[in-house]
Amino acid sequence: MALPFDNTSFHAAIARITLQMEKRLDNLETARQTLPPQPFPPTKKVAECAPTDPGLVELLLSPGIPQEGKGLDKAVDLLLQYIVPAIADSAGPRYFGLVTGGATPASLLADWIVSVVDQNAILHSPRAMSGYSVIMDLSMRMVLDLFELPTTLHLAESAQHRALQASDGIDFRALTTTGSTASNVMGMAVGRQWLGIHDRKVDYSQEGYDGQVVVVTNMAHATVWKAASILGIGRKQVIEVSEMGMDVGGNETIFENVVKEQKRAGKSVLVFLSFGEVNTGIFPMNTYRIANVCENNNAYLHIDGAFGIYARCSPDYSHLARGLEKAHSITACGHKWLNVPYDCGFFIYRSHLEKSILEPIFSSSAAYLPSSESGPTHPMNISIENSQRFRSLPVWATLYAYGRNGYQKIIEENCRYAKKLYDWMKYERSDLYTVLTEQCPLNIVVFAQKLTPELEAMPEGEAQTQALSKRNAELLKRINETGVAYFSPTVWKGRPAIRAAISNWRTTVEADWEPVRAMLEQQASIVA
Ligand SMILES: *Cc1c(COP(=O)(O)O)cnc(C)c1O
Repeated sequence: MALPFDNTSFHAAIARITLQMEKRLDNLETARQTLPPQPFPPTKKVAECAPTDPGLVELLLSPGIPQEGKGLDKAVDLLLQYIVPAIADSAGPRYFGLVTGGATPASLLADWIVSVVDQNAILHSPRAMSGYSVIMDLSMRMVLDLFELPTTLHLAESAQHRALQASDGIDFRALTTTGSTASNVMGMAVGRQWLGIHDRKVDYSQEGYDGQVVVVTNMAHATVWKAASILGIGRKQVIEVSEMGMDVGGNETIFENVVKEQKRAGKSVLVFLSFGEVNTGIFPMNTYRIANVCENNNAYLHIDGAFGIYARCSPDYSHLARGLEKAHSITACGHKWLNVPYDCGFFIYRSHLEKSILEPIFSSSAAYLPSSESGPTHPMNISIENSQRFRSLPVWATLYAYGRNGYQKIIEENCRYAKKLYDWMKYERSDLYTVLTEQCPLNIVVFAQKLTPELEAMPEGEAQTQALSKRNAELLKRINETGVAYFSPTVWKGRPAIRAAISNWRTTVEADWEPVRAMLEQQASIVA
């Protein structure tokens, strides 16, 4: 063995780490803390703690790789004593920043297994009934079921069988990605290739790209521009139909006009629809109408449902996400609302696109890699990475452990919390806070501190925006420094704001509302 391996010290290290991780998970009071239990002291103080804390000094003052390794015990010491305590728990029930989710116990334990077995999920081998290969299919079937998307996917089917099943009717497949950013990049790559073949009669994967595709979108997530940039489509080719989103009836008409105008100008149109705008949770009004516009104009339809797609897990919210099945392809997130560990996203696509569109773009053939002629397509040939983490195991574990009802409960409880926060600000403490949307459709609340009469009297413009920005940043800082809950900043319709996204499996109105309410009341009442 090239490296020292001592069974006894390995077991001791496992025991120590397990104990500390258990504490962190078991103790809800700890999990609720949104600030690190023990921040690193500023580096300038290191000299002062030198006599009492040699471990910390060593950690901070020895940059670069040690010539001789310090050993497992020493590494675990530093991890447990200094590093882990300085990492905040964004997996806790009161972390409302971004849309972060958390990790359910079943997914967490499965993820540990994934690291131990370290299986490369690059290939698919159902013939050998390899456990990981079966789980990849089973879990993707579960994901499609969870989102109520039609599929004919079942175990151990041959490529030929798939082709037969997929001849007509709606039939979806899914694969894992590193997250919704990657899924959006895939959606845009697949959409562009599809438009090349079906609208322009050119195979971009072979010939290269001619710059003739525009992306028409609404309320898009920042990663849509990022994807356009990565793929060489260009950020300036992303046309956002309405800054305000399509929450107002009639915007579908504007949308249709933009698509038609681009077609008249000789462009091919890739429609990138947001299901769940990231600041507000707002959905398009009428996806069926937009899907018709796409069909009539030979446009490709991708839906970014990173977190919004989870509306389909509850009969109370599924109406928001109607029409999803009209898409050619779909983005969904795993590490957000499914509450599995990072990194995990899903790319969902019509099965007939697999051979005709995905493979030409993503296939990666090399002499030492088996081809997929005779069986299901290898993940490496239809996704970005060759080597891949076995991401589908935590997905399988959590869906198996908690089922459809478990996820319905998480989604509904998170939305109930968001509604509670929204109603409180809108109806009870509108003297302190202003909610910036007409409604709270799902799990997100966007709000600001109520304007002072002076701010209200200021003319709109640079000076007012700066004053609002400063005030917002100060309030947010005060709120987050309490450690009671964590929120993140945003700008909504030009106004600096604060955003709460409730997406953790442990958040409940019972345990997490009252302390957060009291804290919000107190922080907004402070006259700065
Ligand atoms: C979070 C999010 C993304 C980006 O997802 P990552 O998983 O962070 O890569 C894309 N679109 C929407 C709507 C999102 O909410």
